[in-house]
Amino acid sequence: MIIHFQNNLKEKQKKEIKISLAKFLKKAEISIHGSYLIIENENKEELSGFLSRIEAIEGIGLAKLSNEETYPLINKRKISPLKIKNKTIGDKTFRLIAGPCAIEDKNTYLKTIKNLEKAGADILRAPLFKPRMSPHSFQGMEKNGLNIIIEARNKTSLPFITEITDPRQIDWLYERVDIFQIGARNMRNYELLKELGSARKPVMLKRAAGASLKEWLLAAEYILSRGNDKIILCERGDYSPNNSEGGINFNMALRAIDLSGLPMIIDISHSTTAKKFILPMAKASAAIGANGLMVEASLNPQLASVDGKHTIDISRFKKLSAEIKKLRK
Ligand code: PEP
Ligand code: MN
Repeated sequence: MIIHFQNNLKEKQKKEIKISLAKFLKKAEISIHGSYLIIENENKEELSGFLSRIEAIEGIGLAKLSNEETYPLINKRKISPLKIKNKTIGDKTFRLIAGPCAIEDKNTYLKTIKNLEKAGADILRAPLFKPRMSPHSFQGMEKNGLNIIIEARNKTSLPFITEITDPRQIDWLYERVDIFQIGARNMRNYELLKELGSARKPVMLKRAAGASLKEWLLAAEYILSRGNDKIILCERGDYSPNNSEGGINFNMALRAIDLSGLPMIIDISHSTTAKKFILPMAKASAAIGANGLMVEASLNPQLASVDGKHTIDISRFKKLSAEIKKLRK
């Protein structure tokens, strides 16, 4: 950690600051170098824990943690691909996560997933909870859709992913799906992050619209802090006033991959909100070294209660999948 002193401090004042710091950073090495001070501490978590106390000391200007101190658990984590049922995420294979925005009825869903599997999907979306802007919009089938997931699991060996919006859903969904998704609206729901950290099931953490890299990675750090290192990041883009220009922040995704080494999925549906941009965005996602993409695809997008506008049908999904296969070679 580097601490810049405020301007024009006397040597005596700098030494007093050093003494104040040493009172609570007992094992740290503290050294003064002219206009700044360096704190070295074996225990990286401790420094971010004390940041507020450090900043409160009079005479301190800017206190800056290194990446290793800001994200100590991400840094300690062994980088290796995640194994989820019969699939891996985080290695060289570009993965396709696909399925409807929401499960709406049994027959459509079962037919959809069979078709998606045949066309090359690796992981299937099984959303029961839809956090919507309006309480009058379709909210998802909620617990009523559980039986559909149970039946779907008997029909395929592919892994399933579902969004969790409340810790109370964890228990009854635990054995039914393989990945829990934290949606953009819940990236800052710290109690949910902690509970999913304790649940020890793979978690896909979306970046909240407008969230900084630091907020996003610290959300992952929350999950790690409860012992769960099975984390996948998902870039889903930012909002814009008419919801069509926000788009994927590839720069943010690249930096997150570089800093964390965590697997990265790009959500090319919610970020583009237009079918015609799905293919170029898929190619761009592969080009930046992401580990796969998430796309909303179903049998009858025109009948969907939610996100039918950008959900692709099976024939478009087949084309997308064929293009991705070419990229894999
Ligand atoms: C979703 O993937 O179903 C979803 C609701 O996305 P987001 O949280 O990114 O809006
Ligand atoms: Mn959707």
